[in-house]
Amino acid sequence: MFPASDPDKMHEECGVFGIFGHASAAAHVALGLHALQHRGQEAAGIVSCEGERFYTHRGLGEVGENFADQSVIGTLLGHMAIGHVRYSTAGGALLRNVQPFFAEFEFGGLSIGHNGNLTNANLLRRELVKQGCLFQSTSDTEVVVHLIARSQFSTVEDRMVDALKQVEGAYSLVALTEDSVIGVRDPHGFRPLVLGRLDQAWILASETCALDIIGAEYVRDVEAGEMVILSEQGIKSLRPFNKAPKRFCIFEYIYFARPDSVIEGISVYDTRKRIGAELARESHVPADVVIPVPDSGVPAALGYAQESGVPFDLGIIRNHYVGRTFIEPTDGIRNLGVKMKHNANRARIEGKRVILVDDSIVRGTTSIKIVNMVRAAGAKEVHMRISSPPTVNSCFFGIDTPERAKLMAARMSLEEMARHIGVDSLAFISIDGLYRAVGAGPRDGENRLFCDACFTSDYPVPLTDQNGGEAARQYTLLSETR
Ligand code: SF4
Repeated sequence: MFPASDPDKMHEECGVFGIFGHASAAAHVALGLHALQHRGQEAAGIVSCEGERFYTHRGLGEVGENFADQSVIGTLLGHMAIGHVRYSTAGGALLRNVQPFFAEFEFGGLSIGHNGNLTNANLLRRELVKQGCLFQSTSDTEVVVHLIARSQFSTVEDRMVDALKQVEGAYSLVALTEDSVIGVRDPHGFRPLVLGRLDQAWILASETCALDIIGAEYVRDVEAGEMVILSEQGIKSLRPFNKAPKRFCIFEYIYFARPDSVIEGISVYDTRKRIGAELARESHVPADVVIPVPDSGVPAALGYAQESGVPFDLGIIRNHYVGRTFIEPTDGIRNLGVKMKHNANRARIEGKRVILVDDSIVRGTTSIKIVNMVRAAGAKEVHMRISSPPTVNSCFFGIDTPERAKLMAARMSLEEMARHIGVDSLAFISIDGLYRAVGAGPRDGENRLFCDACFTSDYPVPLTDQNGGEAARQYTLLSETR
């Protein structure tokens, strides 16, 4: 399988959506998931509930491939439902891993959809297997399901809290019980989760763009460490976890979230433009044109052009109709994929000194192809400006990243990288410039709100499963089965 999304980008691994109190709950979830498609294209699922009965449809592929058919939506009865979109690495798309998961417990049915990644899931899983638990999937989310099942507490909320107190890492969860929809964000708040309202219905979604698509009003972000319970009694908010420093993923602002979303009160689009402006202030060179690598580089390139006074132009055109899965992911084909996706607009490039703006460099393979393409179209000079700091570490909090050894910035100096991708100059935004653009105080200030570990190596929670011993061996086993 060869994902439609760029194999040389880091990828968001999931998006979640939930709704309580709407006659067409499942149809609204399908629309919400469609708006969250950028957070995962490999699989989609919806679970609804009416009375004590749960209804589910989960499948590999995009939301439209699974839920465009009204007869499918028509089987998902009830006025409450949750949904999930999932990204998995090539070859890892297994139907048994598609969420939301559903299980019957002592207290009744419960379904869970998870955005994030648990950093001690393999250790917990090993202990649970020793105690006799049988796992159906290779997903870390199933660990939470088993912990809920084994909890000695009586209510579903208390059991969920009991389970989540044992896990480490990132989770923005939506859950469906027989009489409620529950949303929970981990104490650091790594991944986003917002609360919305549509007439009498309450909604939970990974991003505000999923509220916009159904005409719902944004109410507020679910806070880090907060559990919200949506039911006939209205909304109940609990803060059951020990307080922890806020560490929202700063990369959501750079690349992962949709530009029309607002996260924690801050417009993603405006932030990307400000990052571009900071880049121009930090590392401008004389040039004739600023060209974005589409689509994700566009807002930063606009900000760069406005700040520098160099004209913005669309010198690279993206083909939006690249097929999903018809070729194998060999290196040769990956390179061909880049040519299929982007083409140089020679009329805007020839004879010019070009500033290319992109959001990140991961392996560097795409950058090499793009630069070659721009040079072949007659650029006199090519200067690359990147709207993130160098990505030198893998993410363990819900973003699919290559292992560290494959990250270009982890292996090469700035000069080596510039030579490797074939540009006249290369610059990344500084970490301080990034914090300024997001509108936060200095990174080292007391009020730091963000995770930036893939740029700084400063991981906010222990990476238990990565740190050797038995847990690491289990991790290897799990990797092989994915
Ligand atoms: S490591 Fe990077 S991608 Fe992962 S949560 Fe932190 S900032 Fe986001």
